[in-house]
Amino acid sequence: MDRTQVAIIGAGPSGLLLSQLLYLNGIDNIVLERQSREHVAGRIRAGVLEQGTVELLLKAKSGGRMLSERLVHDGVSLAFAGRSVRVDLKALTGSSVSVYGQTEVTKDLIDARTAAGARLMFEAAEVAVAEFDSAHPKVRYRHNGRTHELSCDFIAGCDGYHGVCRQSIPQGALQTFERTYPFGWLGILADVPPASHELIYSNHARGFALCSMRSMTRSRYYVQCALDEKLEAWPDARFWDELRVRLPDEIAAAVITGPSIEKSIAPLRSFVVEPLRFGQLFLVGDAAHIVPPTGAKGLNLAAADVRVLYQALVEYYRTSRTDLLERYSQLALRRAWLAVRFSWWFTSIMHKFSDDPFNHRLQLAELDYLSGSTAALTSLAENYVGLPFEI
Ligand SMILES: Cc1cc2nc3c(=O)[nH]c(=O)nc-3n(C[C@H](O)[C@H](O)[C@H](O)COP(=O)(O)OP(=O)(O)OC[C@H]3O[C@@H](n4cnc5c(N)ncnc54)[C@H](O)[C@@H]3O)c2cc1C
Repeated sequence: MDRTQVAIIGAGPSGLLLSQLLYLNGIDNIVLERQSREHVAGRIRAGVLEQGTVELLLKAKSGGRMLSERLVHDGVSLAFAGRSVRVDLKALTGSSVSVYGQTEVTKDLIDARTAAGARLMFEAAEVAVAEFDSAHPKVRYRHNGRTHELSCDFIAGCDGYHGVCRQSIPQGALQTFERTYPFGWLGILADVPPASHELIYSNHARGFALCSMRSMTRSRYYVQCALDEKLEAWPDARFWDELRVRLPDEIAAAVITGPSIEKSIAPLRSFVVEPLRFGQLFLVGDAAHIVPPTGAKGLNLAAADVRVLYQALVEYYRTSRTDLLERYSQLALRRAWLAVRFSWWFTSIMHKFSDDPFNHRLQLAELDYLSGSTAALTSLAENYVGLPFEI
């Protein structure tokens, strides 16, 4: 039977980052990933990094390319009622955010792990976690047609919302909290310059729209859509028309269109499970919580979990102390709920929930108030750039 100190299930950003930080601290680990390397590296997802995430990637010695290629954004704009208001993140909080795609974060981490000779197993099938309520958890999986068994001290469940780890915990041991939203986001990626050098979040009577980007030559745009919408019903021309209708005239005129290189529909959900630890199994990132992408928090929250867990494991292996491991769930959940609250609130004021004009007028009043109040804007800004996080 093979052995490691920490078995990490999932090679998304949380699994890869945890693996790299543990390795740099001399802690042996294996990452088991169900998908191929190409699939993992090609998934288009998040794109906005908080400063705390940037710092953690640098600590993981996986931030060199990010530092040279990221776009630093000192502000975002809120568009509503035909006008646009800039939220000066830097002036209000002293912090900025970095635009650097999750695909790039993942590629950098895979490269760093591969260069260090990591045991990073892609296409690991039928992963099963067992005996994690004992001191000697086991992980079984199939790889290259053979069945393997791994013995470890801890299992990190970094396997996303649909992963096996959370599902392996006895039902009665977990409490789940969930909100689904009655709409999704239809997103496209296109190799065209963005409409603005910063992100624009737009509230419109027809529904929400977001102008985002991955670089100054690659744009990411979204429009709110019905949950049962079909991609076939959205040729590029229809998408661009709908996007422009939902933006103030000046911004709509600045949208440069082009063929989409990716198009997808994502449902929106708030989800939290408690606690995040069961015996020697720890839930991390999307395996533990999901937030709607409006607040750009999903990836940052995954990184925040990793920050607590890797320090707790380092403390354990260096000093045999278990205090931080015992507090992992409490610390990670506190931050998760703050992000759930902010993402829910931001989603609530920016999206169309019904045809009731009263609701839309309330949203416009809230945005009007926000744009004229430094206190309200500061509250938005400090949540957007990431709240301080002391362990
Ligand atoms: C379509 C989409 C768009 C998003 N857009 C944004 C955005 O704009 N902004 C934002 O902040 N966040 C966004 N998010 C959220 C963000 O991408 C996630 O929060 C982030 O990926 C979490 O990282 P993770 O490593 O915890 O989970 P994941 O990235 O989900 O990684 C989990 C990994 O585990 C693997 N896995 C699953 N099951 C098993 C198994 N049984 N065995 C082995 N491996 C397994 C998966 O293949 C995957 O590689 C988006 C998410 C999605 C799905």
